[in-house]
Amino acid sequence: MKKIVSEFTEELAANGGSSVTSCFQCGTCTLKCPSAKMMTPLRPGNIMRASQLGLKDEAICDALWQCTTCYTCVEWCPCNVQVVDVITALRNMVVANGDMYENHKKVAQSLIKNGHTVENNDKIRALRKNLGLPENPETVMDDKAAKADFDKVIKLTKFAKLVD
Ligand code: SF4
Ligand code: SF4
Repeated sequence: MKKIVSEFTEELAANGGSSVTSCFQCGTCTLKCPSAKMMTPLRPGNIMRASQLGLKDEAICDALWQCTTCYTCVEWCPCNVQVVDVITALRNMVVANGDMYENHKKVAQSLIKNGHTVENNDKIRALRKNLGLPENPETVMDDKAAKADFDKVIKLTKFAKLVD
């Protein structure tokens, strides 16, 4: 029997989403997904199907960003499809294409600047002080060796340029 694999499915596999070809569309991932109702226009099972069929424009959709990567779908999938890996691969392809949401960029830029994805502010500082905690939480920026490793990862992945 001839196996039909689209160029897009191969691209997806090269990005870590190879297990998508094992999906037989039982729908369990969508049924169990706690975010499914928020995932529009496609739900997890639909994203798997669109990916299998090479429907790149359909598979790359807003729903990718509603997945919380909770792994419920992976735990329940009878075919061991790594749904999260497929969604992550699709997300990576979007980002590599320079189509990142502005809010996601802000979070990523905060990580580079502060070593933390959530920007601290006066309100949080006051709350922390009230609890007897240092006003600023410790991050990778406070440890010389960890900061050097962090900088290395940022450089090797070209992360700063990606989220600029
Ligand atoms: S649970 Fe697995 S086999 Fe079923 S639709 Fe989802 S990914 Fe496909
Ligand atoms: S990992 Fe994503 S797609 Fe899977 S169940 Fe959780 S939210 Fe849904």
